[in-house]
Amino acid sequence: MDEFEALRLADLEGLHQEQAAEQMNVSRQTFGRIVEAARRKVAQVLVGGLALRVEGGIVQMTEQRTFLCDQCRHTWSVPYGTGRPGECPACKGSSIHRIEQGGGPAKGRGACRRQRVGGAKS
Ligand SMILES: [Zn+2]
Repeated sequence: MDEFEALRLADLEGLHQEQAAEQMNVSRQTFGRIVEAARRKVAQVLVGGLALRVEGGIVQMTEQRTFLCDQCRHTWSVPYGTGRPGECPACKGSSIHRIEQGGGPAKGRGACRRQRVGGAKS
């Protein structure tokens, strides 16, 4: 609460640190420490909130799941929430697996990128 009040006096009311410190009955040094800690917390919240939003954006972009048929190499996408398809819509084969949009396998991204067309499984 001290930090909140310090932030309010310094940044919202625009008081000089001396005046604000007086109002809170603390030394100017102490006030400076308090307000600094408060600003750091606000910054963390802002940056954290921003990061969360960015994550949300990415999730929205990948709301489609892409599957690859091992038999005929057909790839297709289904939206989330529809459940995993049981068979390939092209050849009706049941040997399908999920791939990441953009080509790579759903797991182990990076390491085995190049195997995506060859279909090599570990
Ligand atoms: Zn197929």
